[in-house]
Amino acid sequence: MLRTHTCGELRIEDINKKVTLTGWVQRLRDKGSLLWIDLRDRYGITQLFLEEGKSDAALILAARQLGREFVIRATGTVSERISKNDKIATGAIEVKLEGLEVLNSSKLPPFTIEDDTDGGEDLRMKYRYLDLRRNPVRESLQLRHKVAQQTRIYMDSLNFIEVETPVLIKSTPEGARDFVVPSRIHHGEFYALPQSPQTFKQLLMVSGFDKYYQIVKCFRDEDLRADRQPEFTQIDCEMSFITQEDIFNTFEGLIRHLFKTVKGIEIPVMPRMNYAEAMKNYGSDKPDMRFEMKFVEFNDVVVGKGFQVFDQAELVVGIVATGCAGYTRKQIDELTEFVKRPQIGAKGLVWMRYEAGGALKSSVDKFYQEDDLRKIAATAQAKPGDLILILAGPADPTRKALSELRLLVGGQLGLRDKNKFSALWVVDFPLLEWNEETNRYHAMHHPFTSPKREDIPLLDTDPGKVRANAYDMVLNGTEIGGGSIRIHDRPTQQKMFTMLGFTEDEAKRQFGFLMDAFEYGAPPHGGIAFGFDRLCSLFGGADSIRDFIAFPKNNAGRDTMIDTPATISTEQLKELGIAIKG
Ligand code: ASP
Repeated sequence: MLRTHTCGELRIEDINKKVTLTGWVQRLRDKGSLLWIDLRDRYGITQLFLEEGKSDAALILAARQLGREFVIRATGTVSERISKNDKIATGAIEVKLEGLEVLNSSKLPPFTIEDDTDGGEDLRMKYRYLDLRRNPVRESLQLRHKVAQQTRIYMDSLNFIEVETPVLIKSTPEGARDFVVPSRIHHGEFYALPQSPQTFKQLLMVSGFDKYYQIVKCFRDEDLRADRQPEFTQIDCEMSFITQEDIFNTFEGLIRHLFKTVKGIEIPVMPRMNYAEAMKNYGSDKPDMRFEMKFVEFNDVVVGKGFQVFDQAELVVGIVATGCAGYTRKQIDELTEFVKRPQIGAKGLVWMRYEAGGALKSSVDKFYQEDDLRKIAATAQAKPGDLILILAGPADPTRKALSELRLLVGGQLGLRDKNKFSALWVVDFPLLEWNEETNRYHAMHHPFTSPKREDIPLLDTDPGKVRANAYDMVLNGTEIGGGSIRIHDRPTQQKMFTMLGFTEDEAKRQFGFLMDAFEYGAPPHGGIAFGFDRLCSLFGGADSIRDFIAFPKNNAGRDTMIDTPATISTEQLKELGIAIKG
């Protein structure tokens, strides 16, 4: 190599060694008689220095010509630093520069390449290759590498084999739109990019592979939302001859292994909560269990006192904000504004303070006497010093709104610490969900998920009540993985497609291959997929998955560095037999 050491390697033991380093000039400090250069590579920073009178004059001149991000090869002798820097690993030494070769010059970078940069998000995305030189971004990718490595180690230890599945496929319905790729050879025909390798991993089970996994790119053409990427990575897994319990053990094991090896954290056995319970108590199928703040229903104690809002509501439900009785009027008004936002959708917020001295004050004092308020406080098991926050309205949306309020208040109380981890399984999801727009049932998970055996009769009488053998793993209020025990026989799969509004012909055209395969000895099987980018960002304590992807798209689904999506030439369109309208 062009170097003898990396920029993160030299220590006090290396004093007097002659070394050659390569890297980028992070900074040049010219104090006249003394000149320092911070040389950076992937491994760290080493300080080089020159001294007027002692160092070679031509060398000093050459060093003064260096600019930020120049690529150099520096030779010199390691010496002990007088004023040490204990913030960096090489802070005890510096290298007395004796030879300098400029390997490449650099234009002045558009932002500073330091931990705290002056570059805005857009600029950093456009010059992502420069952003990737920064420590925090590089460290995020190193963490990602480690998570991937440890995943492979764990899966391999359990005899899983990694099998690649194709990227040019036919649609796999996972609830999003497909990205499509036109075929040049077969005009008018299209491939679809996989939303996941779902059908392929099931076919591998039919093939007898028994334990499959893959760290794999998936593509979903969904509406853009902050922090959603049109292409993302999953740890995709499938197993044969298993029960749901085996899946829980195996993959809880994976996540615990990752926590242990990547973060050095032992996480406790993951509790299980069924979907109905999660919705009733936390208003969410991915409850953040770093804190309790369970919903309390008040219908029984609040009706009949003349307060129309409560009297007419299907559900009156609230939470206790522990120790928040001292919230100012302004703070409570902010909470009210929050729940009234269109995306949250509540009409208003009722509050009750249980003051430290024992007095009760509420926003509905007009309707409720002291005694009534005591009943509310008792129902909520509130204590002096607490604040009770109550919403009312139709059950489902009201629970969802309260779930958002719970998260907001939990955050305000410091209960959502990024360094604390709480994982659980949410189980027994409904098989189907009614879609108001299309006026039919959609698969809540995907069409290959099996119904619970005892609920099968309900398929014909009350499909919305059928529970699925489906589960999610939830970490800190985020769904990090989800899967199911699959259907593995043709009649049930056909029935499922019918429930979803496919004619027999349509089902055959789209999924005939899978149903055919089910007729050749398909073993019982099931699996799960984890969102790999999200998992990495949670491990990294970051909000955004973008930092954990080397070349991500922005919020508008664009890669501004390579400038895509982009138009293609008329010739390319012609070859594909495609004309652009308008
Ligand atoms: N294919 C599913 C998904 O991407 C995961 C699974 O069912 O294994 O969500």
